[in-house]
Amino acid sequence: MTTPLHLFNSLTRQMEQFRPVHAHEARVYTCGPTVYNYPHIGNMRAYVFADLLGRTLSWKAYKLTHVINITDVGHLTDDADAGEDKLEKAAAAAKQSIWDVAAHYTQAYWADVAALNIRAPAHWSIATDYVPAMIEFAQTIAAKHCYELDGGLYFDVSTVADYGRLARAKTDEGEGRIEAVAGKRNAADFAIWRKTPPGERRAMEWDSPWGKGAPGWHLECSVMSGQLLGFPFDIHTGGIDHREIHHPNEIAQNQAFCGSDHSGAKLWMHNNFLVERSGKMSKSSGEFLRLQLLTDKGFSPVAYRLMCLQAHYRSELEFSWDGLEAALTRLKRIVMGVAQVKAQAHEDSGELPEAPAKGWTLDSAHGEVGGALLPLLVQFDEAISDDLNSPLALTVFEDVLGMKRLDPAHKLQALAAMDAVLGLGVLTIDRQALRLAPMGAAISEAEIEATLARRKVARAAKDFATSDALRDDLAAKGVEVMDGDPLAWEWKL
Ligand code: AMP
Ligand code: ZN
Repeated sequence: MTTPLHLFNSLTRQMEQFRPVHAHEARVYTCGPTVYNYPHIGNMRAYVFADLLGRTLSWKAYKLTHVINITDVGHLTDDADAGEDKLEKAAAAAKQSIWDVAAHYTQAYWADVAALNIRAPAHWSIATDYVPAMIEFAQTIAAKHCYELDGGLYFDVSTVADYGRLARAKTDEGEGRIEAVAGKRNAADFAIWRKTPPGERRAMEWDSPWGKGAPGWHLECSVMSGQLLGFPFDIHTGGIDHREIHHPNEIAQNQAFCGSDHSGAKLWMHNNFLVERSGKMSKSSGEFLRLQLLTDKGFSPVAYRLMCLQAHYRSELEFSWDGLEAALTRLKRIVMGVAQVKAQAHEDSGELPEAPAKGWTLDSAHGEVGGALLPLLVQFDEAISDDLNSPLALTVFEDVLGMKRLDPAHKLQALAAMDAVLGLGVLTIDRQALRLAPMGAAISEAEIEATLARRKVARAAKDFATSDALRDDLAAKGVEVMDGDPLAWEWKL
């Protein structure tokens, strides 16, 4: 009954059936944030995607081990080999230690993760915890695959088969924009260890066989994924920009380390970008598009999650405030619909459905809800098994919501099961969470409710002059009164 899971592999540019390396398990590595600044909502799209993948693997009954790393060293201002270390630069600008900067932005990232209902992975691996392991890894591959220059230890990409096949780039052309480093054998060669220049002291540096210095950025992901998941593991994810430099370089290191042509992971998956035309996503633009900005403007973070799920992860998604508003309206409609089902179901039991011990899967959901809902659960499973077709899965969720003459308790179970994959949290989300007051709002919710209560009394007494005056008063404070709103939302700011 269950549809086999098919995923798009960036390595082969083809859809492939997921066949786990270890029976009944799924091991996934996701390139995490570089914690030199707040993540923008585009960055967060990458983790919503990885979370959807993880939830889907759980739904397909695989025991999931997910790793997301935190990059607190090594990522230069250019993804290739040029520029300054992003963290050193940010710390110098803020006159703080790197450790404080990293700790602050890691916490901020985790807050966004939680707000977006992204499940915590089995491991958050912190790059600086793995520097000794990185040195060991580099030592293992150095003799056969690396050479030393004044600047550091470089990886010679001509020593592995088919370098750059993930990017589909010709070794020399694709990397043409990299600043020339004297002595590099191939344009695409990259530093796996960056030496501290003589006479300098860097804010972050370690002793190594190649002198004091710091690891190159690509090294950390090879080391942490190999250590925590074992080579080869199942799936490696990241944003589509990583398909060009970071992941080809990781693959080259993995090939060198494993002494074979396998890339370290069987499947490489990449989410497309969230784009925004006015440039607000750039972290250098002052007030950039971070999740907090959305909340400040009165949008629940879950509306942004829904906005992400409305697009397939491999499609570009254009951000606009109108689009976010539309997602919020859709979310409100879903939440109100679920509330009605809950109210009907509670007359019988009064409790929310509990997930089965092994979690929601097609089989466990079917066991709970019986025959009438099965065709829709199967449709949902088909959608999500087709390279995570979340836009389609969402419409199936809404179809269930709209079905009449069903046992409400069963309906609620089915919704809970599907939401375990979608992660909207719509069974528990509270109405207030969807009606955040924008920052700087001139009126509090309590005042609005009190004014509306007075207006109700006036209307009941057919005192329309007072009723209209109260409404105008609210309008002047930015509150729109929505008489007769079919969703009973009544007002919005
Ligand atoms: P970084 O913190 O710069 O290493 O990026 C974190 C993640 O966000 C990586 O997987 C990037 O590929 C991804 N990413 C960066 N910009 C965007 C964007 N506009 N839309 C979606 N993903 C992005
Ligand atoms: Zn990475």
